[in-house]
Amino acid sequence: MMISALEHWSYCPRQCGLIHIESTFDENLYTLRGRRLHERVHEPGADWEDGVRRVRGMPLFSVYLGLTGKADLIEFHGETPYPVEYKSGSTRERRHEALQLCAQALCLEEMLGVAVPAGAIFAQGSRRRSEIAFDDELRARVPAAVAEVRTMLGGTTLPAAANDSRCPRCSLFDACLPGVVDQDARIRGFFGELFHPAAGDDAL
Ligand code: SF4
Repeated sequence: MMISALEHWSYCPRQCGLIHIESTFDENLYTLRGRRLHERVHEPGADWEDGVRRVRGMPLFSVYLGLTGKADLIEFHGETPYPVEYKSGSTRERRHEALQLCAQALCLEEMLGVAVPAGAIFAQGSRRRSEIAFDDELRARVPAAVAEVRTMLGGTTLPAAANDSRCPRCSLFDACLPGVVDQDARIRGFFGELFHPAAGDDAL
Protein backbone atom coordinates (compact mmCIF):
# COMPACT_ATOMS: atom_id res chain seq x y z
CA MET A 1 0.00 0.00 0.00
CA MET A 2 1.26 3.49 -0.84
CA ILE A 3 1.96 5.65 2.21
CA SER A 4 0.08 8.46 0.47
CA ALA A 5 -3.11 6.36 0.65
CA LEU A 6 -3.20 7.08 4.37
CA GLU A 7 -3.43 10.82 3.81
CA HIS A 8 -6.12 10.30 1.18
CA TRP A 9 -8.03 8.04 3.57
CA SER A 10 -7.74 10.51 6.42
CA TYR A 11 -8.96 13.38 4.23
CA CYS A 12 -11.85 11.46 2.71
CA PRO A 13 -12.26 7.65 2.51
CA ARG A 14 -14.13 8.00 -0.78
CA GLN A 15 -11.26 9.97 -2.27
CA CYS A 16 -8.92 7.16 -1.20
CA GLY A 17 -11.20 4.60 -2.85
CA LEU A 18 -11.50 6.57 -6.08
CA ILE A 19 -7.72 6.87 -6.33
CA HIS A 20 -6.58 3.46 -5.07
CA ILE A 21 -9.43 1.22 -6.26
CA GLU A 22 -10.66 2.94 -9.40
CA SER A 23 -7.37 4.64 -10.36
CA THR A 24 -9.27 7.90 -10.82
CA PHE A 25 -7.03 10.88 -11.35
CA ASP A 26 -7.82 14.48 -12.04
CA GLU A 27 -6.03 17.76 -11.52
CA ASN A 28 -7.17 21.00 -10.01
CA LEU A 29 -5.22 24.04 -8.91
CA TYR A 30 -4.24 22.45 -5.60
CA THR A 31 -3.05 19.11 -7.00
CA LEU A 32 -1.20 20.89 -9.82
CA ARG A 33 0.70 23.00 -7.29
CA GLY A 34 1.42 19.92 -5.21
CA ARG A 35 2.62 17.91 -8.20
CA ARG A 36 4.96 20.67 -9.38
CA LEU A 37 6.37 20.94 -5.87
CA HIS A 38 6.93 17.19 -5.54
CA GLU A 39 8.53 16.92 -8.96
CA ARG A 40 11.20 19.27 -7.63
CA VAL A 41 11.65 17.83 -4.15
CA HIS A 42 11.51 14.16 -5.24
CA GLU A 43 14.63 14.62 -7.36
CA PRO A 44 16.95 12.13 -5.61
CA GLY A 45 20.09 13.65 -4.11
CA ALA A 46 21.94 14.40 -0.92
CA ASP A 47 23.93 17.28 0.55
CA TRP A 48 25.04 18.78 3.83
CA GLU A 49 23.75 21.98 5.42
CA ASP A 50 24.96 23.28 8.80
CA GLY A 51 26.28 19.84 9.71
CA VAL A 52 22.98 18.12 8.80
CA ARG A 53 22.94 15.44 6.11
CA ARG A 54 19.92 16.01 3.81
CA VAL A 55 18.64 13.19 1.59
CA ARG A 56 15.91 13.83 -1.01
CA GLY A 57 13.62 11.31 -2.69
CA MET A 58 14.57 8.46 -0.36
CA PRO A 59 12.54 5.25 -0.92
CA LEU A 60 10.71 4.04 2.19
CA PHE A 61 9.09 0.77 3.13
CA SER A 62 7.73 -1.17 6.07
CA VAL A 63 7.42 -4.93 5.81
CA TYR A 64 5.52 -4.96 9.08
CA LEU A 65 2.88 -2.47 7.92
CA GLY A 66 3.01 -3.35 4.22
CA LEU A 67 3.75 0.23 3.19
CA THR A 68 5.91 1.74 0.48
CA GLY A 69 6.58 5.28 -0.63
CA LYS A 70 9.13 8.00 -1.05
CA ALA A 71 10.19 10.76 1.35
CA ASP A 72 10.50 14.34 0.16
CA LEU A 73 13.40 15.05 2.50
CA ILE A 74 15.08 13.21 5.33
CA GLU A 75 17.45 15.22 7.50
CA PHE A 76 19.92 13.25 9.60
CA HIS A 77 20.62 15.06 12.85
CA GLY A 78 23.47 12.83 13.91
CA GLU A 79 22.00 9.33 13.73
CA THR A 80 18.42 10.53 14.10
CA PRO A 81 16.32 10.84 10.92
CA TYR A 82 13.94 13.79 10.71
CA PRO A 83 11.41 13.45 7.83
CA VAL A 84 10.16 16.62 6.19
CA GLU A 85 7.10 16.51 3.92
CA TYR A 86 6.52 19.38 1.50
CA LYS A 87 2.98 20.62 0.97
CA SER A 88 1.66 23.37 -1.24
CA GLY A 89 -0.47 26.07 0.37
CA SER A 90 -0.11 27.74 3.73
CA THR A 91 -0.10 26.52 7.28
CA ARG A 92 -3.46 25.01 8.19
CA GLU A 93 -4.80 22.00 9.94
CA ARG A 94 -2.27 19.21 9.32
CA ARG A 95 -3.99 16.12 10.76
CA HIS A 96 -3.99 14.23 7.47
CA GLU A 97 -0.43 15.10 6.52
CA ALA A 98 0.72 14.22 10.06
CA LEU A 99 -0.60 10.70 9.60
CA GLN A 100 1.37 10.34 6.36
CA LEU A 101 4.50 11.78 7.98
CA CYS A 102 4.21 9.46 10.98
CA ALA A 103 3.92 6.48 8.61
CA GLN A 104 7.20 7.64 7.04
CA ALA A 105 8.74 7.74 10.51
CA LEU A 106 7.59 4.18 11.28
CA CYS A 107 9.14 3.05 7.98
CA LEU A 108 12.42 4.75 8.89
CA GLU A 109 12.44 3.17 12.33
CA GLU A 110 11.97 -0.28 10.82
CA MET A 111 14.50 0.30 8.02
CA LEU A 112 17.25 1.91 10.09
CA GLY A 113 16.61 0.57 13.59
CA VAL A 114 16.64 4.00 15.22
CA ALA A 115 13.97 6.06 16.97
CA VAL A 116 12.32 8.85 14.96
CA PRO A 117 10.66 11.13 17.52
CA ALA A 118 9.60 14.03 15.26
CA GLY A 119 9.43 15.44 11.76
CA ALA A 120 7.98 18.48 10.02
CA ILE A 121 5.51 19.63 7.37
CA PHE A 122 6.93 22.40 5.19
CA ALA A 123 4.19 24.62 3.80
CA GLN A 124 5.35 26.05 0.49
CA GLY A 125 2.83 28.91 0.60
CA SER A 126 3.99 30.35 3.91
CA ARG A 127 7.48 28.81 3.67
CA ARG A 128 7.16 27.70 7.28
CA ARG A 129 7.72 24.40 9.00
CA SER A 130 5.28 22.88 11.45
CA GLU A 131 6.95 20.33 13.67
CA ILE A 132 5.00 17.12 14.28
CA ALA A 133 5.82 15.02 17.35
CA PHE A 134 5.19 11.32 16.79
CA ASP A 135 3.41 10.62 20.05
CA ASP A 136 1.70 7.37 21.00
CA GLU A 137 -1.70 8.55 19.79
CA LEU A 138 -0.45 9.49 16.33
CA ARG A 139 1.61 6.29 16.08
CA ALA A 140 -1.46 4.21 16.91
CA ARG A 141 -3.45 5.91 14.15
CA VAL A 142 -1.08 4.57 11.46
CA PRO A 143 -1.72 0.78 11.79
CA ALA A 144 -5.40 1.51 12.45
CA ALA A 145 -5.64 3.49 9.19
CA VAL A 146 -3.65 0.83 7.32
CA ALA A 147 -6.16 -1.80 8.47
CA GLU A 148 -9.12 0.38 7.46
CA VAL A 149 -7.68 1.06 4.00
CA ARG A 150 -6.94 -2.65 3.50
CA THR A 151 -10.53 -3.50 4.38
CA MET A 152 -11.75 -0.95 1.85
CA LEU A 153 -9.35 -2.23 -0.84
CA GLY A 154 -10.63 -5.76 -0.29
CA GLY A 155 -14.27 -4.71 -0.59
CA THR A 156 -16.48 -4.12 -3.58
CA THR A 157 -17.97 -0.70 -2.85
CA LEU A 158 -16.63 2.82 -2.57
CA PRO A 159 -17.07 4.64 0.74
CA ALA A 160 -19.95 7.09 0.95
CA ALA A 161 -19.43 10.65 -0.26
CA ALA A 162 -18.61 13.23 2.39
CA ASN A 163 -20.48 15.98 0.54
CA ASP A 164 -19.25 18.67 2.91
CA SER A 165 -16.68 21.45 3.11
CA ARG A 166 -13.91 19.09 1.93
CA CYS A 167 -15.45 18.68 -1.49
CA PRO A 168 -14.91 22.09 -3.15
CA ARG A 169 -11.10 21.69 -2.82
CA CYS A 170 -11.13 18.07 -4.01
CA SER A 171 -9.74 17.41 -7.49
CA LEU A 172 -12.05 14.39 -7.83
CA PHE A 173 -15.22 16.42 -7.40
CA ASP A 174 -16.43 15.81 -10.97
CA ALA A 175 -15.66 12.08 -10.84
CA CYS A 176 -17.22 11.70 -7.41
CA LEU A 177 -20.40 13.77 -7.82
CA PRO A 178 -20.85 14.10 -4.06
CA GLY A 179 -24.07 16.12 -4.35
CA VAL A 180 -25.65 13.32 -6.38
CA VAL A 181 -24.39 10.10 -4.82
CA ASP A 182 -25.12 11.45 -1.35
CA GLN A 183 -28.85 11.57 -2.09
CA ASP A 184 -30.51 8.18 -2.39
CA ALA A 185 -33.72 9.62 -3.84
CA ARG A 186 -31.85 11.32 -6.71
CA ILE A 187 -29.88 8.13 -7.39
CA ARG A 188 -33.07 6.08 -7.52
CA GLY A 189 -34.55 8.67 -9.91
CA PHE A 190 -31.55 8.44 -12.23
CA PHE A 191 -31.63 4.63 -12.13
CA GLY A 192 -35.31 4.74 -13.01
CA GLU A 193 -34.57 6.86 -16.09
CA LEU A 194 -31.63 4.78 -17.29
CA PHE A 195 -33.60 2.43 -19.53
CA HIS A 196 -36.60 4.66 -20.13
CA PRO A 197 -37.12 5.23 -23.87
CA ALA A 198 -36.96 8.92 -24.75
CA ALA A 199 -39.98 10.50 -26.46
CA GLY A 200 -40.05 9.45 -30.13
CA ASP A 201 -38.01 6.27 -29.49
CA ASP A 202 -41.10 4.01 -29.53
CA ALA A 203 -40.05 2.39 -32.79
CA LEU A 204 -36.68 1.27 -31.33
S1 SF4 B 1 -15.62 15.27 -3.79
FE1 SF4 B 1 -15.89 15.16 -1.54
S2 SF4 B 1 -16.79 13.14 -1.13
FE2 SF4 B 1 -15.94 13.11 -3.21
S3 SF4 B 1 -13.89 12.28 -3.00
FE3 SF4 B 1 -13.71 14.50 -2.91
S4 SF4 B 1 -13.80 15.06 -0.74
FE4 SF4 B 1 -14.55 12.96 -0.94
